[in-house]
Amino acid sequence: MPEGHTLHRIARDLHAAFAGRVVSVSSPQGRFAAGAALLDGHEVVEARAHGKHLFVEFAGERVLHVHLGLIGTFVIDSIAYVGERPVTGQVRCRIATGRHVADLRGPIVCAAITPDEEAAVHAKLGPDPLRDTDGGRAWERIHRSRKSIAALLMEQDVLAGIGNVYRCEVLHRHRINPMTPGERLKRASWELIWADLRRLLPLGVATGRIVTDVAEVDEIEAALAKGEDVHLDERTSSVYKRTGEECGRCGSVIRAKDVAGRTLYWCGNCQRRS
Ligand SMILES: [Zn+2]
Repeated sequence: MPEGHTLHRIARDLHAAFAGRVVSVSSPQGRFAAGAALLDGHEVVEARAHGKHLFVEFAGERVLHVHLGLIGTFVIDSIAYVGERPVTGQVRCRIATGRHVADLRGPIVCAAITPDEEAAVHAKLGPDPLRDTDGGRAWERIHRSRKSIAALLMEQDVLAGIGNVYRCEVLHRHRINPMTPGERLKRASWELIWADLRRLLPLGVATGRIVTDVAEVDEIEAALAKGEDVHLDERTSSVYKRTGEECGRCGSVIRAKDVAGRTLYWCGNCQRRS
């Protein structure tokens, strides 16, 4: 499943391609024909994301609301690069100008909504480290909960945009025991988690990949600060999908267990903090 950085990256690219432009909106597949007709021929004002939800605001109080779910994709290309691209596959929604084309496939949500309906979606979501500077609302929920911090980090109404990779890696980075109940998590531990997610997710937006390895984070931050291009080939993780391997920090065997419907990976030896 795409994590929040993917949606913010798509929002950034949609905004760059279409903001301030009158666009054509269509539903080649047909399932979004009525919604597309409401948006077609209007100017795009802004594209933005909150957690895993994407909103494209159009002039005239219309908003395109998208959630990609497990398999959805939203691919934006320059016409100069792809030409007059024929429709391939099940394109639920296509946004196009003479310069750019964006095709949405396989979303679980694709709807034309009002600003009030958008506000209702935001109200149900927790703070997003890529959008909100203050994570206090998440802490209010966490420190009153008996659920484990590993489960709480995945709940989008507690914290928006965090998926399985970031939850496993951020807990390992701070040596936090994933099974710690929210009500027993120290405030200082939460502050470390929130600050670190505020640091890590922008690297995901900039590079298109989840970057959590301690050395790699420093290296990429330095490159981005200098304005250098960053090219990453393979994903590196410290615990995610490393069951049975040695923990890079302490040498113990990395474990795996289902928590909140997804496989949690952690080191039982060096992740003992609460
Ligand atoms: Zn370890």
